[in-house]
Amino acid sequence: MEIKIKKASLKKRKAKPTDESQLGFGKIFTDHFFNIKYKEGRGWYDPIIEPYRPLELDPTAMCLHYGQEIFEGLKAYRGEGGAIFLFRPEENIKRMAASAERMCMPPMDAEIFLEALKKLVILEKDWIPHGAGTSLYIRPTMIATEPALGVHPASEYLFFIVVGPVGAYYPQGFSPTKIFVSEEYVRATRGGTGNVKAAINYASSLFASRIATNKGYTQVLWLDAIEHKYVEEVGTSNIFFFIGDELITPPLAGTILPGVTRDSVIKLAGYLGTTVVERPISIQEVISASENGALKEAFASGTAAIVSPVGQLYFHNKEYLINGGKTGPLAEKLYNEILQIQYGMKKDPFGWRVKIRNGKKAKKG
Ligand SMILES: *Cc1c(COP(=O)(O)O)cnc(C)c1O
Repeated sequence: MEIKIKKASLKKRKAKPTDESQLGFGKIFTDHFFNIKYKEGRGWYDPIIEPYRPLELDPTAMCLHYGQEIFEGLKAYRGEGGAIFLFRPEENIKRMAASAERMCMPPMDAEIFLEALKKLVILEKDWIPHGAGTSLYIRPTMIATEPALGVHPASEYLFFIVVGPVGAYYPQGFSPTKIFVSEEYVRATRGGTGNVKAAINYASSLFASRIATNKGYTQVLWLDAIEHKYVEEVGTSNIFFFIGDELITPPLAGTILPGVTRDSVIKLAGYLGTTVVERPISIQEVISASENGALKEAFASGTAAIVSPVGQLYFHNKEYLINGGKTGPLAEKLYNEILQIQYGMKKDPFGWRVKIRNGKKAKKG
């Protein structure tokens, strides 16, 4: 299947942002987007990259009523001489197929998916910012478009990819977060959809987030839904605790999202000589480790920030400072290593980097 490309006329193209320090996250999108349709019995058809535009949906499009929406998040990075890299895109493609399966949606063809990613990013290459830590965020999305009421797996879907420049997550250096442990509200339960990137998980997380923000905290630390005892995730990121000389993270047991960054942190930390353990860890164990001094660091992991140090926990009406509220050396090391792999500044021992455009070598002498 050939991806058609219909370019926006030059006079309709948007002005590119001039101040990269003001990019922020998720506010600016480029001139084009990719989309492809699906109909039961016909499969995926009409793949196209075309001028960015609003979607046209029937008011009864099923995604609007029953939440049939899944998405992904990854980035394209600008390297030396204009080289462009993706980071482990095949992991996002696989994860989206797993999300589709769980939501009774058709999996997107993996080859078209990867080709669409590459073609769209290369077409929009001038939108990739240049500053350290900046990138082009990529948002693949699938929605049920069948116009019908009544809950059932839909027979029609739209898959699309939008991209937009995003700023450096830490323009002024790391800023450790203050985290609110949610003892009342939960994110996902066993047998639910916590391990898939589906819109429904995020809508239901907002209430607890608002409670946390109103109390002055950045994010929610989610506990398991059954006993409210085991740590699961922080906000929309995975969580790590460095206790004694072990880096501990909750296992993938169906309720947490299998983060690509989580997997990269586990592999890289092990490669760099840190013992990494995937096992259930209770909030009480974290608190006890904080009280007896064994808790050295805590940090979240995700595509947006790579690693986000946790400086403080709020649990049971008490505040616990972690590493004096400062970024720890392990978090900083992992952040730098992954970032340098992503931007092509360092050798890539795991073959994670996918170069989609060659850079020009700087002339010597
Ligand atoms: C996307 C996401 C993550 C992080 O996944 P990455 O692939 O590392 O970006 C973690 N938790 C939740 C709930 C997420 O939605």
